[in-house]
Amino acid sequence: MKEAKVIAIVNREVKKLRAVLALQKWRLIIDYGEVGDDLGGRTSSANCRVNPGAHRMWITFDPEKFESEEEVVEILRHELLHIFHAELLTMFEMMSQFITDSQTQNTMEVQFQFVCEAIDSRVETMLDIGLGLDTKKLLRIAEKKYGYKR
Ligand SMILES: [Zn+2]
Repeated sequence: MKEAKVIAIVNREVKKLRAVLALQKWRLIIDYGEVGDDLGGRTSSANCRVNPGAHRMWITFDPEKFESEEEVVEILRHELLHIFHAELLTMFEMMSQFITDSQTQNTMEVQFQFVCEAIDSRVETMLDIGLGLDTKKLLRIAEKKYGYKR
């Protein structure tokens, strides 16, 4: 997908998703460019970093890896949901300081990323299936409740 289109979709939907997920106090820095594979070797269309102490999140989207508008919005929600377990990152980074062996460090990073993705996946399942609040529904709620226009 063209970068301009991805930017337009993200810009149109990010405020709504932040509002409905109650993440307005987080500062988002969104960037567009190439995103490499994750630590487990899986292809990623976006990635994020978080600094929970500063309420900041950086998201990078790789426009070439998106084929539909729906995909962009789903990934935007996915990345935002990583904020819900952001403090785990702080704890992990603190604990990592005590690991001097790089192989152990790498193994822990891969495992940590796996844990974060598993948590995110469960929250997505809870929203989509448990609560019936899929991304489209969340956007409609935000439009209605907070007055955002389509
Ligand atoms: Zn993720």
